[in-house]
Amino acid sequence: MPLQNLLPGDLKTLQNLLQKVKTNTDHFMGYPVAKDFDYTDLLPFLNYPMNNLGDPFVDSTYAVDSREMEKEVIAFFASLFRANLDDWWGYVTNGGSEGNLYGLYLARELHPKGMVYYSEATHYSVQKNLHLLNMPNIVISAQENGEIDYEDLERTIGMNRHIPVIIMANIGTTMTEARDDIAKIKAILKKLAIKNYYIHADGALSGSYSAFIEPRPAFDFADGADSIAISGHKFFGSPMPCGVVVVKKSNRNRIARSVAYIGSMDTTITGSRNGHSPLFLWYTIKKLGIEGLRERAVHSLAVAQYATDKLNEIGVKAWRNPNTITVNFPAPDPVIRQKWQLASENGWSHIICMPNVQKEHIDALIAEMAAQPVLI
Ligand SMILES: *Cc1c(COP(=O)(O)O)cnc(C)c1O
Repeated sequence: MPLQNLLPGDLKTLQNLLQKVKTNTDHFMGYPVAKDFDYTDLLPFLNYPMNNLGDPFVDSTYAVDSREMEKEVIAFFASLFRANLDDWWGYVTNGGSEGNLYGLYLARELHPKGMVYYSEATHYSVQKNLHLLNMPNIVISAQENGEIDYEDLERTIGMNRHIPVIIMANIGTTMTEARDDIAKIKAILKKLAIKNYYIHADGALSGSYSAFIEPRPAFDFADGADSIAISGHKFFGSPMPCGVVVVKKSNRNRIARSVAYIGSMDTTITGSRNGHSPLFLWYTIKKLGIEGLRERAVHSLAVAQYATDKLNEIGVKAWRNPNTITVNFPAPDPVIRQKWQLASENGWSHIICMPNVQKEHIDALIAEMAAQPVLI
């Protein structure tokens, strides 16, 4: 007879996991994941096998889906990223990495002989994607703050002027949230008279809120990007990893292929696609609107400034890039890193002041750090 219910021991295992997840969520400042969401209204959808396989803009014979919402989500970001009115397309991905993979894939189809340039501060998944796509690439040095070294970029492209240029620009690096300036990159391409190029913007965290910042960083389609990827579970917040990629429709058309089995176009990377994650993004966009999202960004920036000031007050050499929510400082005691789940690299750690982080969280961390000898 099939089991109808979980055995008590298995139920207990589940409860224990839930408790652990709850506790660890409370002390969580080292990764760029927002936690201020309540998706209770969406719970009933968990009873259905939602799947948006294929192209969100082309109907499929598989109709237990959320394509209508997915299209609204993409339209929202296309407008936020100032895409040309009739030349945008995109889909909800499994995360920023898939969006970056997609951008590189399009770039390769457009420029099969292209060379990819990206800074040494680029997310680790990009190298993996370049390997998967078998694309030749050159790593450019980064400045101290994590931003690409424009001189090195210009010099290196200058030595390869006969090869189409594919740029993977960081709109917020993983460690210091440095933004590469797409306007500056375009100026370099113009100076070197490079005609064949493609610029992809990796906006995983920062790209999600850069549109709300004054002065607006140069990161989007109007600034010269050909595609932009963001993570949905970072600034927006989602119970499962997800992301958004927006590209130029004219470019996407070059790789579109009709597939009879799904009754849609095969323009995305995976087969089945998460039909629930577009709902989370749609819900947040509807609930907060542009103004609500802007307020969250303003809040995060203020908390980041507060954290920097407070850390400096106790003698910790904290700093942050202008208009970012990532505060960098020398890696604290391992006990503190463990408790607050602080990533660290080359002796540096950071906290990321996501919208759910309040001054009280900062105060609690600072009190613990003040109690430790400062290691500089
Ligand atoms: C988080 C991050 C990624 C990867 O995004 P996922 O959503 O985790 O796949 C890529 N680039 C940068 C700069 C990131 O911070």
